[in-house]
This record gives sequence, structure tokens and C-alpha cells, in this order.
Amino acid sequence: MKIEDRFLERSEINQIALISPQATINEIKDFKVVNKFDVELPEEVSGFPKCINPKCITNAREPSIQTYYVKSIEPLKIRCKYCNTDMERNDVIKQLTKYQGLTQ
Ligand SMILES: [Zn+2]
Repeated sequence: MKIEDRFLERSEINQIALISPQATINEIKDFKVVNKFDVELPEEVSGFPKCINPKCITNAREPSIQTYYVKSIEPLKIRCKYCNTDMERNDVIKQLTKYQGLTQ
């Protein structure tokens, strides 16, 4: 996986970890790899993705307060802390338009 000329925020790393738990991120500076690390999915993720349950409180409130428990990494299963809806990798990918080219 390669994302060029970008500094990755922690939240973006979590997004990548959700869809490709085996990813390794290379931090490149002046054309040299200065840092290399495996993405790591925390036990709890927040701020992303949107809950797929339209009635979920996190879809009604601003700012949104999505938080999910990571139940399983392979295959991915996260559970909404507020409505207990389970979401799978596909549900997450649909919301990741930004990284769509990187998911193959
Ligand atoms: Zn929910």
C-alpha cells in the first residue's frame, strides 16, 4: 500500500487498519524510508465509520460520537457501543471512498 506525499493522522491509520490489518506503513522523507511500522487496530475505534443503523444515536447527534468495539480483526467485525449493531469490512469499505483504490 502506498500513499504518497501525505502525513497520516492517527485516525487515518485506524481507518487503514480497519480495512487492511496486515498493512505496513512506510514513512518516507527525502526519498528514504525513515520509519516503517505495522498498522495496529486498537480495541476500540472512534470517530469512524458511521454506524449503519439509521436509528443509532450517533447518527442523530452532532458532533457524532461513534465508538466501536473491535470484536474480530480477521474477518473484521466491529460493534457499535451505542446500538450494538455489528459491522463488517464491507460496511466500512463502502464509507472509505478516499481509499477505495487501495483496498485491492
Ligand atoms: Zn450504532
